[in-house]
Order: sequence, then structure tokens, then C-alpha cells
Amino acid sequence: MTHDRPERLPAAIGIKALDAEGIGRLVAQLGEPSFRASQIVRWVYGRGAGAYAEMTDLSKSLRDKLEATLPLPSAEIVERQVSSDGTRKYLLRLADGTTVETVGLPTEDRLTVCFSTQAGCAMGCSFCATGQSGLIRDLGPGEMVDQLAVVARDFDERVTNAVAMGQGEPFANYDATLGALRLMNSPDGLGIGARHLTVST
Ligand code: SF4
Repeated sequence: MTHDRPERLPAAIGIKALDAEGIGRLVAQLGEPSFRASQIVRWVYGRGAGAYAEMTDLSKSLRDKLEATLPLPSAEIVERQVSSDGTRKYLLRLADGTTVETVGLPTEDRLTVCFSTQAGCAMGCSFCATGQSGLIRDLGPGEMVDQLAVVARDFDERVTNAVAMGQGEPFANYDATLGALRLMNSPDGLGIGARHLTVST
């Protein structure tokens, strides 16, 4: 069957290429009722499920269809540097082997994540090492949300704030960044208040 994974994203990232609307279209393509989309978003992005088998309020047949249709990968920590002020810098490996940088900034009452929207960057700003190596690829919405999930697990704390200011120019990957911000804001996703989500261009 076909689904609406943008062509420029690798197949290995599976459902992480889809935002909530994309999951809604996937559910319709699979012939399932629309409320299934919210359930899947809650499992994938709200609870960070690592396998479709965990989604016990979905029917077995739907879980099997999802399994056969799209991989459900997670980002893995490759490197982790901890600064004396508690800041943690991560190099994360995505499903196709691409790596991206993410930063977790803890303060007394907040955990802020600076997440990447692209691997590499085409903008070429002279002061920036990322810009010198060029664009590797855009990230899918779920790959942006996954960066917050990794940091939350590593700190064992809820992420309260997120800023799109890691690698990449968010507006050069506009639709996916917007989809990611909606998932971060959604009660089915991470439930972070809109005023705590920032885009730095
Ligand atoms: S837009 Fe950001 S990531 Fe891209 S080259 Fe400029 S500073 Fe680096």
C-alpha cells in the first residue's frame, strides 16, 4: 500500500515521518475509524512506545497492519557530554544512521530542549560548523519529537520547554517543523504549552 511519507525522507524512519495529520491519513488508508489516529499519536508521541505490540488498546489486526506498513524506530544516544552547569549535549543516531545534535538545559523548575530540525544545514553561515558540511537531509516531525523524548528519559524529567535551534534552519523544513511543534503541544503528544515552544531562525 502507499502512504504519505514525504519522498525526501528515508523509508527507515517509518511512522516518525508522519505528524498527527499524516497519521490521520494513514488510518484512513488502512480503513480504520478516525479515532484510531489519536490513539496512535498518544502511543507513539505521548508515551514513546517502542513497538506496536505495546499499543494494547488497538486491535491485533491494526497492530499487524501498522507493523507491516511502517517501522517504529527510536533515536539512540551515540555521545553524551555533561557540562558543569548540568547542560547535556547529545549526538543521536536516527533510524537510517544519520546523526543529529540535541541539547538538554536543566534549571530549577524547567527542562528545556534545543532540538535539530535538519541533519546538517544548507544555509552555510560562516561562523557555524554545521553549515560548513552542508545539508544531509530534513528530519521528519517524529524525529524532532524523539529528541525531546530522549532528553526526558535521560533526565528522568518531563520536558517543559523546547526551542528549534539545533542543527538546521527550521523554516527550510517548515511543514515538518510545524507538525513537530503541534505534536509537542498536543495533549495526545507531549502537552507542552504553546508559549513554551519557540522557533529560532
Ligand atoms: S542556519 Fe543555523 S545551523 Fe544552519 S548554518 Fe546557519 S547557524 Fe548553522
